[in-house]
Amino acid sequence: MNEIHLHNTLSNQTEPFVPQRPGEVTMYTCGPTVYDYAHIGNYRTFVFQDILRRFLKLRGFRLTHVMNLTDVDDRIIANAAAKGVSIRDYTEKFAQAFFDDCKTLSIESPEHWVRATDNIDSMVQLIQRLQEKTYTYPSEGSIYYRIAKFPDYGKLSKIDVTGIQAGARVDVDRYEKESARDFALWKAPKPGEHFWDTPIGRGRPGWHIECSAMAMKYLGETIDIHTGGVDLTFPHHENEIAQSEAATGKHFVRYWLHAEHLLVEGEKMSKSLGNFFTLRDLFAKGYKPSALRFALASVPYRRQLNFTFDGLQQAASAVERLRNFADRLAQGKFAPGQYPGMSERIAKAASDFDAGLSDDLNTAQALAAAYDLVREANVAIDKGEFRQDDVAAAQQFLATFDRVFAFLEDNDAAKLNELGYAKDANALSDSEIEKLVADRQAARKRRDFASSDRIRQELAERGIILEDNRDGSVRWKRK
Ligand code: AMP
Ligand code: ZN
Repeated sequence: MNEIHLHNTLSNQTEPFVPQRPGEVTMYTCGPTVYDYAHIGNYRTFVFQDILRRFLKLRGFRLTHVMNLTDVDDRIIANAAAKGVSIRDYTEKFAQAFFDDCKTLSIESPEHWVRATDNIDSMVQLIQRLQEKTYTYPSEGSIYYRIAKFPDYGKLSKIDVTGIQAGARVDVDRYEKESARDFALWKAPKPGEHFWDTPIGRGRPGWHIECSAMAMKYLGETIDIHTGGVDLTFPHHENEIAQSEAATGKHFVRYWLHAEHLLVEGEKMSKSLGNFFTLRDLFAKGYKPSALRFALASVPYRRQLNFTFDGLQQAASAVERLRNFADRLAQGKFAPGQYPGMSERIAKAASDFDAGLSDDLNTAQALAAAYDLVREANVAIDKGEFRQDDVAAAQQFLATFDRVFAFLEDNDAAKLNELGYAKDANALSDSEIEKLVADRQAARKRRDFASSDRIRQELAERGIILEDNRDGSVRWKRK
């Protein structure tokens, strides 16, 4: 096995991964802000975290992973107040949708789910510790963090804080690097807004103190890994460091990992730009959960991922190829014995797979390791050369692969049914149908009848009927 290397935003280097306690890893992930449905950009980051957690477990670490639900932030407070409902009533629908989406994308549940609203006491206590150490000051019922008092401010995001005016403040949770200021730890309520009555006054926590308090409460004052999307580096994670390290005097996080964004036609997918898709949007168009998971997982997390429907279609074919190969292994009748070189070939795939993931989670390399093997083994099967005694090793490799990627189980239809997505033939566009028909033709040509049957079956389930002509061409029509 290879030494695991991870890129640490703090050092801006790829470092050997050595947890504090041998064999154990503590990890904190900033979860969704449940003010709306999460979009597939968000899930790019959550799938990356899932691959990371699954890989660490595969490598035998005992993992304690905490993910929070941000159910207090400016937008939630404002929206709940505007609707005149409680925070729980406002956020519950989105929280539930998030859990459903995670299940659908085979994102494992972390060891602990924590909600900001369940941990207000810990946030208040952390602010009190900061008050005792004079890192804070009050203003108009709110409490601010004095960044000038924390000399390391800027060490994660590398912003230059010289020249920042002492005492300049920012009240909103989210702001740009250019407006680095003293930020709000505790916010006085505006009329109609929800608040908590606490020893530090009436109000509600700022977004940043939430994660510092919950991370340390559940994982201790120094944690191994903290993850999020790149947009969280500043101000969120910079402020988490300032709060936690000022309070404890200890190093807060040993490895900071940040996923690059998912883009749509070169632009960040975001709710504010309006160029976003939710999982529901894609499933309604007839795309499968496994195809989306593949598309999101296939680009290494530190590279931007350009989302296209073509890419999603290719991802669907890639998943099919893998499932077909697994079926061929399970159902094929092979001659006894071993095919010379095959067990070495499978061992090489396993070692390339591990090397890829060990190299800062290079998923593209890990996938290539599997797909190269699938291609070569399929050729051997086609030629009748693959042998019975190689089946178990190939299956063993696929099982290991799938502990991280989770593509093999053919459960898309079940997941969609569970979520109430009926299959709708009209959801497939003509060009999508043409593409599947062409894929089927290609499969028949290479005599891969498992694949061609599967595609015919899939089209039939979606109300598309194929008619094979004598000359080998195919016509399709909607039922
Ligand atoms: P939020 O709900 O806004 O707090 O975001 C949840 C997670 O999604 C955070 O880790 C963000 O950094 C991440 N995120 C937001 N937009 C994108 C995007 N376009 N691509 C990838 N990750 C994103
Ligand atoms: Zn956070």
